[in-house]
Amino acid sequence: MMKNGKLIGFLSFFLMIGVCFWACSESEREKPEHTHNWGAWTVTVPATCIDDGEETRVCALDASHIETRIFSSPNAHEWQWAAKISPTITADGEDAGVCTLNASHTTTRTAYAIGTIGLAYQLIDNNTAYSVSKGTVNSGEVFIPAFRLYNGEYLPVKEISKQAFFFSYYSMSGFTSISFAKNSQLTSIGSDAFYYARLTEITLPEGITSIGKSAFGYCVGLTQITLPDSLTSIGETAFFQCYSLTDITLPKGLTSVGSRAFDSCTSLTEITLPEGITSINGAFQYCTGLTEIILPEGITSIDYAFTGCTGLTQVTLPESITSINGAFQYCTGLTEIILPEGLTSIGQYAFMDCTGLTEITLPEGITTIGDYTFNGCTSLSEIILPEGITTIGDYTFYGCTSLSEIILPGSITSIGESTFYGCTGLTQIILPGSISFIGRSAFRDCTQLTKITILAVTPPLLQDIYGNKSIYVFQNTSPDLAIKVPAASYAAYIQADGWSDYWQRISGM
Ligand SMILES: [Zn+2]
Ligand SMILES: [Zn+2]
Repeated sequence: MMKNGKLIGFLSFFLMIGVCFWACSESEREKPEHTHNWGAWTVTVPATCIDDGEETRVCALDASHIETRIFSSPNAHEWQWAAKISPTITADGEDAGVCTLNASHTTTRTAYAIGTIGLAYQLIDNNTAYSVSKGTVNSGEVFIPAFRLYNGEYLPVKEISKQAFFFSYYSMSGFTSISFAKNSQLTSIGSDAFYYARLTEITLPEGITSIGKSAFGYCVGLTQITLPDSLTSIGETAFFQCYSLTDITLPKGLTSVGSRAFDSCTSLTEITLPEGITSINGAFQYCTGLTEIILPEGITSIDYAFTGCTGLTQVTLPESITSINGAFQYCTGLTEIILPEGLTSIGQYAFMDCTGLTEITLPEGITTIGDYTFNGCTSLSEIILPEGITTIGDYTFYGCTSLSEIILPGSITSIGESTFYGCTGLTQIILPGSISFIGRSAFRDCTQLTKITILAVTPPLLQDIYGNKSIYVFQNTSPDLAIKVPAASYAAYIQADGWSDYWQRISGM
């Protein structure tokens, strides 16, 4: 009995808790008796140009249902501006503003310097900014303002237009100075903007990120230009033929230097490319005064970058470089170059006409040497080609008159057209057994070539690009030229197309 009584008491306790819980929840869950039918919002506290207002709406079904919300003034202040201190061409002034909604509200704003009178402005970016150009100004000093009024409000002057200050080379007038407001809003300089301008110095304001194509082309009097840290891109031929430019510091954030950007800047003596640059094409060609170049680790391509830089005497290339097509052609002062280990191909024209180059060591890993690569390197006396090279291009060693020794590795399969044409210092050469093709005129005019040893068992194909069997491969070599071939292949050689023309010189070994 006692046991049962306890159990009943226990259950009742839980039942009571359950009922209470249900009842409480039900009261909180009270549903509205209708869906509100709200009337329109009515302003109860009007907004001013300073303070928010308040508005309410009432339910049509039960007027005790009211909602309230805050709203901001749609107008804020409505300023009417009047000059307090008038701006000048170069100096900011100040405007005083009075609110047309409440005359007790007053303020001031900067009245921005107006810039050189006569400049022309064009609205850009959906009428949110301006681009500036010379307008009726044709000479003298120019001041570019930071802002310009549009319907009473200041819009930033963000661009210098394409050909903005371009003028004829033959004109005796011209712009002598271009300066910028200290709070300049410029972000870009259009193509040809200062082409032919007679500027001597210019400091570009912080904020500019790009300089367009040929922007300072033929600014022959420009000795100094200061570039902002914000600059990321220099367009192609941007400083083409700025003969007087003696030095330029490229900002750290620069990531793009266009093709031939500094072509023929003959007074530049040294250049350091920042870390972000990964490729330059023709950028410094014909900078004949350049004696030192510092290239960043990370740059991979310098194609035609230093063509005709006759003042360069030695160059060290970073390990990251993989492409050097035409990079140092006509660098007649170059005596020493250290090539990076990772280079796999010495591209076409890379050292063409480097007449001062006496020796070059090619890194292991090179597999191809391009067309014209060492063409006209008249001082090159020795070159060691590493094992692994398979192809030597056309005209690669054409006219290398000092070349007395060349060792071809056992990996070479092909010698291109005119590859050793005119190598008058070459007296003997060994062609490895791997060679299967020799291009037209490959050893033509090697007037001292007296002995050529061919290890190939099968006579290499002597052929030009049209498939003609070449008869010029050994044209005008030494009258004493002896062609040594494997004894067992003698018969094959003297009968093979092309080779049969030289049958009298061929002998087995
Ligand atoms: Zn209601
Ligand atoms: Zn106001």
